[in-house]
Amino acid sequence: MTPEQIISKIKAEKIRVIDIRYMDLPGTWQHFTVPACEITETCFEDGFGFDGSSMRAWREIDNSDMVVVPDPGTGRMDPFFEEPTLVLIGDIKDPITGEPYSRDPRYIARKTEQYIKSTGIGDTIFVGPEPEFFIFNNIRFASENNAAFYEIDSDEGIWNSSREEIPNTGYKIRHKQGYFPLPPADKYQDMRTEMMLALEDMGIEIECQHHEVATGGQAEIDLRYSTLLHMGDTLAWFKYVLKNVAAKYDHTVTFMPKPLYEDNGTGMHTHLSIWKDGKPTFAGNKYAGISQEALWAIGGIIKHCKALCAITNPTTNSYKRLVPGFEAPINLAYSSRNRSASIRIPMYSSAPAAKRIEFRTPDPSCNGYLAFSAMTMAMLDGIQNKIDPGDPMDKNIYDLPPEELAEMASAPASLAEALDALEADHEFLLKGDVFTRDVIEKWIAYKRTNEVTPVDSRPHPHEFFLY
Ligand code: GLN
Ligand code: MG
Ligand code: MG
Ligand code: MG
Repeated sequence: MTPEQIISKIKAEKIRVIDIRYMDLPGTWQHFTVPACEITETCFEDGFGFDGSSMRAWREIDNSDMVVVPDPGTGRMDPFFEEPTLVLIGDIKDPITGEPYSRDPRYIARKTEQYIKSTGIGDTIFVGPEPEFFIFNNIRFASENNAAFYEIDSDEGIWNSSREEIPNTGYKIRHKQGYFPLPPADKYQDMRTEMMLALEDMGIEIECQHHEVATGGQAEIDLRYSTLLHMGDTLAWFKYVLKNVAAKYDHTVTFMPKPLYEDNGTGMHTHLSIWKDGKPTFAGNKYAGISQEALWAIGGIIKHCKALCAITNPTTNSYKRLVPGFEAPINLAYSSRNRSASIRIPMYSSAPAAKRIEFRTPDPSCNGYLAFSAMTMAMLDGIQNKIDPGDPMDKNIYDLPPEELAEMASAPASLAEALDALEADHEFLLKGDVFTRDVIEKWIAYKRTNEVTPVDSRPHPHEFFLY
């Protein structure tokens, strides 16, 4: 939609309330609301002012004025507010220079889309995420008895630290056996369907919703692939809709990657393909029906994976998921059938248009704009430098003998390690000025100061049990 179309829509539908949204650097959606009279042609150029120093990792108090400029192409009605409310997602600008703000995640996604065109490798990147999540009744900390673990008060019953259930309710899903039982074991069908339909009503295309492997209501709702910037916006809506539908049921949706000890964690497998002139460049006659470009793209992801993880798996909790035995990929390898590899080439369809790679390492605690951009930049670097991904790994990596395993590169063991890797390897992200040096430095400093150090320096509940 154009500014004129938005203004006519507001008039025709008598919309009185407009909500302006943008995403901060760590990946949380922000909003404020204006009355309809504020939406004039000039607001689509001049934007609305706000205090950039109140945003995490943005401005300092002595240089805090910023503006958010609504993007008329993003207009959608909010499905939850009582008063009909039009939501516009915005881009951040410096009011003095008029320049787009380099730490605005949406700007980074825009620049990635421009950069891919400038390389001649392709003109479009398609992104198809499969976000997983948990639905909890309530989460509380067990301080009384044995402070070793979080107790989860879910609809599956209450677990204590030794995994006995109190009370022993019926129809409970065993650990790691939540793929795909019917009700009454699956207690969330109605809630997931409501989420799916709410998204569909907004024009967000969904491929499937289902219970996932873990107990405690783990679920997945798959998004139909779309272009990068658009998918960044869609993922923001997705998390918002899921959390708000769950809240109506007095439940909590969390995208935290590993909320339950000894059960599967939450990933966000991401399907990626590059197109040029309406043709899929990843289809070809190499391994599993993919092209040489796709193999090099895999080479780029594998080469930069440790640094990439600092953006695609950006929380301290992310690394509690990346451990053996829970379907989370640890080893940096690719395969057409092997789900223990970090990159899979799906074989559901042999149609060239369906050829893509599935990067299985990311988790949904990431900022979508940044994560999709970083994955794209790693693939482009692989193609530009013809990075050989080595041989495919068609065996179960979890069963490999230790000698063979030791030879394979693996995902970082902690956020601290991933940030060190990003500090050492980020030139591929700076190309085309997509991620600036300032963004990388700020990201690393912010994560170390606000997440790594505070988590590492606190006594862990399990330390009370051990010591
Ligand atoms: N939950 C698993 C992960 O952490 C994936 C399970 C699956 O989708 N097969 O990536
Ligand atoms: Mg899936
Ligand atoms: Mg899944
Ligand atoms: Mg998958």
